[in-house]
Amino acid sequence: MSRIAVIGAGPCGLAQLHAFEQARQDGIDVGEVVCFEKQSDWGGLWNYTWRTGVDAHGDPVHGSMYRYLWSNGPKECLEFSDYTFDEHFGGPIPSFPPREVLFDYIAGRAKKSNVRQFIRFDTAVREVTFDDAAQTFTLTVESWEAAESWEGTETTLSTEVFDHVIVATGHFSTPNVPEYPGFATFPGRILHSHDFRDAVEFAGKNLLILGSSYSAEDIALQSRKYGAASVTICYRNAPMGFGWPDGISEVPALSHVEGRTAHFCDGTSRDVDAIILCTGYQHNFPFLDPELRLVTPNNLYPGGLYKGVVWTANPKLLYLGMQDQFYTFNMFDAQAFVARDVVLGRLALPDADAMAADVDAWLAKYAAVDSVEGQIDFQTDYVRDLMALTDYPDFDLDLVRQHFVTWEHDKDESITGYRDKSFASPCTGTVGPTPHTTWWDELDDSLARFLRRG
Ligand code: FAD
Ligand code: NAP
Repeated sequence: MSRIAVIGAGPCGLAQLHAFEQARQDGIDVGEVVCFEKQSDWGGLWNYTWRTGVDAHGDPVHGSMYRYLWSNGPKECLEFSDYTFDEHFGGPIPSFPPREVLFDYIAGRAKKSNVRQFIRFDTAVREVTFDDAAQTFTLTVESWEAAESWEGTETTLSTEVFDHVIVATGHFSTPNVPEYPGFATFPGRILHSHDFRDAVEFAGKNLLILGSSYSAEDIALQSRKYGAASVTICYRNAPMGFGWPDGISEVPALSHVEGRTAHFCDGTSRDVDAIILCTGYQHNFPFLDPELRLVTPNNLYPGGLYKGVVWTANPKLLYLGMQDQFYTFNMFDAQAFVARDVVLGRLALPDADAMAADVDAWLAKYAAVDSVEGQIDFQTDYVRDLMALTDYPDFDLDLVRQHFVTWEHDKDESITGYRDKSFASPCTGTVGPTPHTTWWDELDDSLARFLRRG
């Protein structure tokens, strides 16, 4: 019997288990699927933790999400086409839900497809090697009893052999941490966005934020929303240029820090109490043999992956969700269906040259992208390409593409108001109702509060 290892039970790993389960229900022999998850529960980044630094077992904490995180894109753009928001919540809900609501939705589909039985929780994959002669992978895994602290916890190391390995460990957990002159003697807190948990900590403080992408934008906004005295965002290349609310401003790149004073490349300076490095993440797979490791910056088309999924150097190894993401859950589904069909031999792979040529064609197309709208179109085309390969149920991709473009314009119009807009589902047509409280005024991010009608 074929043995398939899935590493990680976040949205990608769960999409993969769901895809196999769909095939099993259609009477197809999928072999034995084992999912290893180092945390005690599923959901990946959506499984919120207060912890920073190391987890109970001394491993780097996986979680990068924070309290008060609301979806930054319309939920209609990520909807599972075979498990709609209407089905899960029993009726329409607004378009920009907080984290707990999306976690509930992800878990809802996983429960419906009954995939928990395939997951070994509290089990970290420590090493993956490939045996050329046997054409199999050997995984070394470490497991332990679920525990709140390492003290007294017994761990077990074991090895197992698999025919295929699917890596679904995410790529927004290992921070990219730059060094600037003066950091070592800065008298306040310096942290990466990976370790940011509760904006209330910074109430009354003057904050400096480095970076000009989603984390910088969102952490700046919510820090101010929850009471920061001021937020200064410094950009390396170009400002985000949104119409920021009072108290948030953008300045050119940091040059150095002297005591509490941050000096910028345009010669200006500001006194700050804390520095948050919203400087992105690294793809990091310490458990994979170096020859199996994907090495890439965060972009929309990592090289070396046929259809963005199959490791061309060894097609028995597959990766999910390694792209930068406009599309998320539905793209992960489309990828997982492709990965499943490759593994089951239902989707024949072309020879190595043809796979490389396909990757090169996508890379050339990506190199020609020169606008945000172009990026949206690029990822839409990529998802369309994936969907043509399997029986993942159709949804209105053109509508999702249009939603992303509208969303970008909404952000330009009002960075504090875009989350109050409504979008139509690409699966059911249902339009999200207007939220009962505007996002900027809403301080309670609980599921109960969000779902309260009126
Ligand atoms: P993850 O969610 O990271 O899950 C990976 C899983 O693998 C984890 O459970 C981890 O414990 C496990 N794992 C890792 N290593 C091992 C190992 N060696 N052995 C066993 N298990 C292992 N997307 C949206 O659609 N909307 C949003 O609003 C949004 N907000 C975001 C906010 C932040 C701050 C970040 C960082 C990302 C956000 N994202 C958002 C994007 C996010 O990447 C995806 O939504 C999604 O979580 C990716 O799923 P994944 O399964 O690829 O990875
Ligand atoms: P990112 O998109 O990869 O952006 C990294 C940023 O760091 C870039 O602006 C980059 O600058 C900057 N940077 C890198 N090195 C730097 C340095 N040495 N000095 C100064 N700046 C530096 O990472 P991210 O913003 O953390 O986003 C990661 C993911 O999290 C995204 O998928 C996003 O959607 C998600 N997210 C979602 C939410 C939400 O839903 N509410 C909130 C936060 C994050 P350049 O642009 O100059 O290269």
